[in-house]
Amino acid sequence: MQTVDVLVVGAGLAGLRTARLLARRELNVMVVDRRRSLSAGIRTTGIFVRRTLDDFDLPEHLLGPGVRDVLLYPPSRRAPIRLTSDRDEYRVADMAAVYEHAHRAAESAGARVLLGVRYAGASKGLARFADAEPVTARFIVGADGARSRVARDLGLDVNRRFLVGAEIVHPIAPGTTTPAFHCVLDPRVAPGYLGWVIDDGRHAHVGVAGYPDAMRAGIRHLLDDFAADAPGRAAPAGPVERRGGPIPVGGVLRRLVCPEGLLVGDAAGAVSPLTAGGLDPCLRMSELAASVAAGYLRTGDQRMLSQYDGGALRARFRGRLLLRRVFAGIRSPAMAEAAVRALRGRAGRALAARILFGDGSFPAAGPGRANAGKVGLGDEARREGLV
Ligand SMILES: Cc1cc2nc3c(=O)[nH]c(=O)nc-3n(C[C@H](O)[C@H](O)[C@H](O)COP(=O)(O)OP(=O)(O)OC[C@H]3O[C@@H](n4cnc5c(N)ncnc54)[C@H](O)[C@@H]3O)c2cc1C
Repeated sequence: MQTVDVLVVGAGLAGLRTARLLARRELNVMVVDRRRSLSAGIRTTGIFVRRTLDDFDLPEHLLGPGVRDVLLYPPSRRAPIRLTSDRDEYRVADMAAVYEHAHRAAESAGARVLLGVRYAGASKGLARFADAEPVTARFIVGADGARSRVARDLGLDVNRRFLVGAEIVHPIAPGTTTPAFHCVLDPRVAPGYLGWVIDDGRHAHVGVAGYPDAMRAGIRHLLDDFAADAPGRAAPAGPVERRGGPIPVGGVLRRLVCPEGLLVGDAAGAVSPLTAGGLDPCLRMSELAASVAAGYLRTGDQRMLSQYDGGALRARFRGRLLLRRVFAGIRSPAMAEAAVRALRGRAGRALAARILFGDGSFPAAGPGRANAGKVGLGDEARREGLV
């Protein structure tokens, strides 16, 4: 039977990055993912915000053009609020290429990445797979997404509050549209969140997300309805792809680590409860995860694990969790019209700009920093670039 230092379950952004950082620390790392190809079954729009782009060197060729304009619409779709930044605030990545890049980077660092292998459970360090021989692992990293099986097997906290999101993506004819991010606050199509169209001049992503219990018509139906006359929608100039999945919005989980393993990314609830952005947290959190796991495996000192403190990270999200509750409370078109009206004033526009263009990000990576409450980025991430 094979023995590894670390088994990483899930080859999303969180898993691949954590694997890379662990392998660079001379650990024997194996990554498994049930997907046979990382360009299939993509579950994200792939919007990277300015702060992430500033802090991590995502290779230029993986990113679409910058988007500076946001238009916020009420349910009537009339008179949107337009916010314009003087910087590129969003860039939509070619996620298939991002995963491929991260895959290669993890392998160059020495990790073995096995695709088409479904993790089926673990007990006392023995991990089982649906379609491969079991493996003995000193430590397991649960990077297996919002409904993490690893979290359950390790007895760690699990996500309980979700939005569900779905979108269509397609190329658009060059020069036919003006790049912009259109956001529609309309609880009939996106209860508790937004309908969106983001168009960077090359591709358009049209999506909706919301609380599943309030989407009685079914998300696919709501998406098709929304897409039929969504503001800013351009005609497809190529194949249309569908994406979707659950988004944990209950905040970072408290219990993220035990002597048998830890959680990163969506599995850890590391998603902004307000914007539902999870790509930045994947990158920042992986650094802390890798550093704590490597230190623990090197020394055997369980006290090191306390640095991976979900409670401390969670405390940084109090404001966003509060705003999530406000967002969730907008359950009628009349309330949504009133909310957009409130954002038209000077204070409202300042709040919207702070949320949409602000510098806030997931709390820092690096041992001790979560507790110190300082937002920053570890030296390794700065040196190493994104993936
Ligand atoms: C529709 C939608 C749009 C989004 N858009 C954005 C956005 O534009 N910007 C942003 O910042 N965030 C966005 N998010 C959130 C963001 O995509 C996620 O937070 C992020 O991708 C999570 O990455 P991850 O690596 O933790 O998990 P995932 O990318 O979900 O990776 C988990 C991996 O684990 C694998 N896996 C699961 N179970 C097993 C098993 N038993 N065995 C083996 N493998 C397993 C899966 O196949 C998967 O590859 C969006 C989410 C959705 C649903």
